[in-house]
Amino acid sequence: MDCLFCKIIKGEIPSYTLYENEYVLCFLDINPVNKGHILVIPKKHFLDNSDIEDEYLLKIHEASKKMIELLDKTFKPSGYRLIQNNGTLQEVKHYHLHIIPSYLEENNEELEEVYNKLKNNC
Ligand code: AMP
Repeated sequence: MDCLFCKIIKGEIPSYTLYENEYVLCFLDINPVNKGHILVIPKKHFLDNSDIEDEYLLKIHEASKKMIELLDKTFKPSGYRLIQNNGTLQEVKHYHLHIIPSYLEENNEELEEVYNKLKNNC
């Protein structure tokens, strides 16, 4: 299957990976809405909320809590949005949960710099 995120899981396409285990991979979105925009994906291919197995959903939930702790520790955002786009709103057809932090001040930083700061706190 020609799936971008499956290729990232296999290491065929590079990613700014922050955390992974047997079930999930967490990495920086390359086109972040805000500093520290993270995607959490299952290592098994699912389309979206309609077909993902409960076991994976739980692992994604656990990993998202870990990533929010990491963001809190590193950047102290004022809040978060958790989004899973479906249908025409979903560009990449492999389930992914967006963790989008929100800040009270301007927060533009290079992806590489954001990644290094988060990695230092992992
Ligand atoms: P969605 O519209 O919910 O499918 O969002 C797909 C997200 O994947 C977008 O926010 C993209 O910026 C992000 N994205 C696309 N390609 C990559 C990539 N190679 N590495 C990291 N994020 C990506």
